[in-house]
Amino acid sequence: MRRSSEPLIAETQIQAAVTRLAAEISERYRNCDTLVMVVVLKGGTIFASDLMRRISLPLAVEYIRAKSYDGIDSLGDVLLPVLPEQPLRGKSVLVIEDILDTGRTTSAIMKTLNEHDPASLELCVLLDKPSRRVVPVDAQYIGITIEDRFVVGYGLDHDERYRNLPEIYTLEEE
Ligand code: 5GP
Ligand code: MG
Repeated sequence: MRRSSEPLIAETQIQAAVTRLAAEISERYRNCDTLVMVVVLKGGTIFASDLMRRISLPLAVEYIRAKSYDGIDSLGDVLLPVLPEQPLRGKSVLVIEDILDTGRTTSAIMKTLNEHDPASLELCVLLDKPSRRVVPVDAQYIGITIEDRFVVGYGLDHDERYRNLPEIYTLEEE
């Protein structure tokens, strides 16, 4: 497999979506002094670093890592081997993800973080593939909705490759 020669989503289109999301988030959290961005490793890091630099509010950044047990289909069977360092209790928590697909991992992440008793818990994703959804997930901030294609670039990998590309590509047979 290799990436398509032409991008599916150009850098300018990604950056416009990031700017719009930053404005929405800035408006929503403008009176909040305890915003904690929880970035889901590894795919969310590129998106989050662009996004947070366009939010001129005081905020803290935490990272989590999610691993799902392969072959087990039930919700909640997701390990979080990297957890936030600071307590989330009473904080306004915003989860940053690269892409929303089946919703399995993301809903398990939201469920686990909710057990930390945050004051509020919202989700921001750069990409959404709604046609793939198996588990319902509420994302308050969505960058770009796409068809059911496997995409790489701008944080998204295939076997750890392509994360550094500034555009988003589809994956194709060689
Ligand atoms: P979900 O729990 O929504 O099925 O899974 C979301 C995770 O699956 C994402 O955080 C991402 O790691 C991975 N994923 C889903 N779709 C894609 C895709 O099109 N490309 C890449 N590179 N990863 C994807
Ligand atoms: Mg991944």
